[in-house]
Amino acid sequence: MPASPAFDLGGRVALVTGSSRGIGRSLADGLAAAGATVVLNGLGKARLDRTRAELAERHGSDRVHASPFDITDEEQVVTAVAGVEGDVGPIDVLVNNAGIQHRVPMLDLDVADWRRVIEHNLTSAFVVGRAVARRMVERRRGKIINIGSVQSDLARPTIAPYTAFKGGLRNLTRAMAAEWGGANIQANSVAPGYIHTEMTQNLVDDAVFNAWVVGRTPAGRWGSSADLVGPTVWLASAASDYVNGQTIFVDGGMTAVV
Ligand code: NDP
Repeated sequence: MPASPAFDLGGRVALVTGSSRGIGRSLADGLAAAGATVVLNGLGKARLDRTRAELAERHGSDRVHASPFDITDEEQVVTAVAGVEGDVGPIDVLVNNAGIQHRVPMLDLDVADWRRVIEHNLTSAFVVGRAVARRMVERRRGKIINIGSVQSDLARPTIAPYTAFKGGLRNLTRAMAAEWGGANIQANSVAPGYIHTEMTQNLVDDAVFNAWVVGRTPAGRWGSSADLVGPTVWLASAASDYVNGQTIFVDGGMTAVV
């Protein structure tokens, strides 16, 4: 039961891209715990079905749905969004979460890999965001949450396209607020610090990198997916109705210190 009715997501439909595992899965779980009906998304149908079954055990099968589609394919996106709205209901909350990483020093980076990361991450947030927003604008209500990172503000060597994507996503969030705010849509970004997931397991296992994260983060630890749930529920709920175009860093204080 939410602490305040303003945070209650009962009756809301939330689509979370890339939620078959990792951070997206935890966010979908948290949104459902706050009362939302959630629609999971991913590429692999088997994993998606497994996650759907697991979350349905906790929240009920009527409140956990799955929509396998490729966020980089505009035709699939438009068809899937229409399908979700027809089968589950109008999408009140979109979380643009799915993302890929590619680590190579910039001098050795193939242009094809640069394009792949930007297309997969930044262009998809625009494509999925617009497909959903076209419907939200008509209803004059909606919440869009783009998942950023500390790279929304800061760079690190070997991840230039990811850094460009997350910086671009911060400004895409502002552009969404600028264009759709008048239709009562709030677009904000949750920017996680270093979170222990499958994507970062190799970094957790790297003693030098692990020591750097722990030493560089005022909280003195890696984040968990659960750390991201509260801010996401807040940005999905009426409690944040006058917050728009913002990037909220959930990073244990990393971006606040040098
Ligand atoms: P994971 O690699 O654990 O999960 C990625 C998810 O995206 C999976 O559900 C995967 O589905 C899905 N996916 C991948 N490609 C597509 C596609 N083309 N269409 C649809 N779904 C797709 O990622 P994380 O949980 O680590 O990261 C999620 C987000 O959080 C990303 O935006 C990342 O940049 C951000 N982030 C992560 C941090 C971390 O420390 N992990 C820190 C800061 C930000 P499938 O299972 O089918 O492959």
